[in-house]
Amino acid sequence: MSTRTPHVLVIGAGTGGLCLAHGLRRAGISVAVYERHRTRADGLLGYRVGIGPTGSRALRDCLPPELFRIYLATCARSPRYFNVLTQRMRHTASFPLRPDTDPVDTERSVARMTLRQVLLTGMEDVVHFDRTFTHYDQHDDGTVTAYFADGTSAVGDLLVATDGTHSAVRRQYLPHATVRDAGTVNIATRIPLTAHTRGLLPETVRRGISLIFGTGGVMGVLHVMEFKWDGDGRLKPDVPPADAALLADWPGLRHDPTRDNINLVVWSTARRFPADVLRRRGGELIQVALELTANWHPTLRELLSRADPESALPIRVSTSEPVPPWKSSTVTLLGDAIHTMTPGRGVGANTALRDANLLRRHLVSAVAGEKTLVQAVADYEATMLPYGFARVADSLNRSGTSGDDRMYKPVFGRLALLGARGYFRVTSRVPPLRRKFVDDFYTYRGEED
Ligand SMILES: Cc1cc2nc3c(=O)[nH]c(=O)nc-3n(C[C@H](O)[C@H](O)[C@H](O)COP(=O)(O)OP(=O)(O)OC[C@H]3O[C@@H](n4cnc5c(N)ncnc54)[C@H](O)[C@@H]3O)c2cc1C
Repeated sequence: MSTRTPHVLVIGAGTGGLCLAHGLRRAGISVAVYERHRTRADGLLGYRVGIGPTGSRALRDCLPPELFRIYLATCARSPRYFNVLTQRMRHTASFPLRPDTDPVDTERSVARMTLRQVLLTGMEDVVHFDRTFTHYDQHDDGTVTAYFADGTSAVGDLLVATDGTHSAVRRQYLPHATVRDAGTVNIATRIPLTAHTRGLLPETVRRGISLIFGTGGVMGVLHVMEFKWDGDGRLKPDVPPADAALLADWPGLRHDPTRDNINLVVWSTARRFPADVLRRRGGELIQVALELTANWHPTLRELLSRADPESALPIRVSTSEPVPPWKSSTVTLLGDAIHTMTPGRGVGANTALRDANLLRRHLVSAVAGEKTLVQAVADYEATMLPYGFARVADSLNRSGTSGDDRMYKPVFGRLALLGARGYFRVTSRVPPLRRKFVDDFYTYRGEED
């Protein structure tokens, strides 16, 4: 067994890759991350990501303690309710969530850009921007070389693909792995949070996660994102002193344009959208969302019409097919690169973080001499594949993010909608069912290995 400390190449500075890089560096394992974007502020989809206990636990385990505290301080105000609304903004159900007093066992709202800035903090010597991975070679001496589009290359002992849904590493390593269109399209928008837009929303919606079950197979999700800084990026007066001290010295805020907003995503089966929806942007895209939601409550339509056109983004929802186990080697994958899932259960980023933490633990065991590097990879993959693809299946089949869902069928759709609303109405009104729903919510979002 080699006693040399391995050098790990990570392809992609996304959620999972950066978490892994922090964890390895903290454990004294040499790591370099290669990212195609040119700078730390480039190319990010601006939607909200819900991080549950699984994701926060991984961040706590991998990040330096002070950076984990910065992560907590940069989260938006935590949701206190899980609501189900009709398109007319009537509450079908409202489940109280737990207070956010625990750093890990809490449901947190994170802006993708803000999380990226947190994860890039202190990683200047580890992350190489403007390096688009093209292919790799595995060598007989156990090393692996990654090649980049600019003609450069890097050599390491392990190559970890964290390059997301369209992973170039996966294309070469597992060419039979399939990522496919789930058949739904999202239009994501952000509405500036002002005294006026805040005033349009009832308290439970302002302080909650709200799923909108509309008629005709048009769905939505609404989150209010309130941060500790104002429109000019200055700390708000009511920020607790400990958080203020952390954020005042945090350089990430200078790179992060995220401000208080209402995240409103409208989605349906792709059949309901114009054929060119993925090419539309700005006001044109918001117009598509307004046409789809013609029978929605005037407040929701007012919010859509006030959306920042720059923020409007069409997202073709993808999923992946389970991949049978393969013979492990010096290349492995984590996050969307191996198990892309629809956003239906809000666990893609959580699962990428879980993978990162699990792989870190196995690599630490290898460095401690308990197993070879390839055995560490094999042990990681044996655990990751079953839970990863279980999440893929739940996300597709139990959330209305498959274009084939009954929700989108002409007659069955009405029955499916009545059934879903009836389920949430009864569950939220019968105390033992309500308690079980909330317990199950945290159990699912807190799963660990
Ligand atoms: C609308 C929407 C809402 C979502 N909401 C949630 C939620 O609430 N909770 C949740 O847990 N998940 C959510 N997700 C899923 C989540 O965003 C992803 O699962 C998560 O970001 C995956 O992380 P990752 O590290 O695997 O990949 P990413 O974060 O996508 O990172 C991949 C990185 O690799 C880089 N890259 C790609 N190709 C190359 C290359 N060739 N060379 C170098 N670099 C490359 C990319 O630029 C990127 O930085 C949502 C997704 C969508 C679409």
